[in-house]
Amino acid sequence: LPILVGITGGIGSGKSTVAKIFSILGIPIYSADDRAKWLMGNDKQLKTEIRDAFGEEAYDVEGKLNRGFLAQTVFSDPEKVKKINSLVHPAVGKDFMNWAAEQNTPYVLKEAALIFESGGNKTLDHVINVSSPLKVRISRTLMRDPHRSEEQVNQIINQQLPDEQKNELADFVIKNTDNKLLIPQVLKIHQQLISQK
Ligand code: ATP
Repeated sequence: LPILVGITGGIGSGKSTVAKIFSILGIPIYSADDRAKWLMGNDKQLKTEIRDAFGEEAYDVEGKLNRGFLAQTVFSDPEKVKKINSLVHPAVGKDFMNWAAEQNTPYVLKEAALIFESGGNKTLDHVINVSSPLKVRISRTLMRDPHRSEEQVNQIINQQLPDEQKNELADFVIKNTDNKLLIPQVLKIHQQLISQK
């Protein structure tokens, strides 16, 4: 099994941008958020669990996930958010392990917005946090997602663990402020990880 490395960071921190740099170095990236969406729509066991927990309405007649229904019923109720996470996170964890076992690089990256929050760090060897000042994150997100309001962005930020806490929990921190170069920071971590294997 390769070394399992998580890469996280709050909204707009630049974790996808940093993950792209690792992928240019040949490191395979597992996108937990994309994969979670896929599994919710396609994994038989997970679909059954979601149906049992939230009702038949969670899927349409063709078996496609009813995102609108789920968003409406789940995201206003913290207990239901916990419930859906308790079903999706283990499914993603298992899927990630299967995927990682098929890779033949010294290490792989699991990119996820919530790693510490979901306890995903427990099954990873190391975690990288991409860290940027709050103001920069908000302005980057608003530039990238013009459909979002500043209020919505702040709401998402409030659901995530504060950056300072993630920096303390992480094994590596990549600073992505506008005056810091990313590639040298990535290369340094890459060298350290490949020398561990
Ligand atoms: P999310 O959690 O919302 O997926 P993210 O942490 O993956 O966000 P990115 O999508 O990588 O963040 O970056 C957010 C936006 O900021 C993107 O439009 C990206 O191009 C831009 N960005 C990231 N880093 C930098 C940088 N160093 N300089 C300029 N723009 C940047």
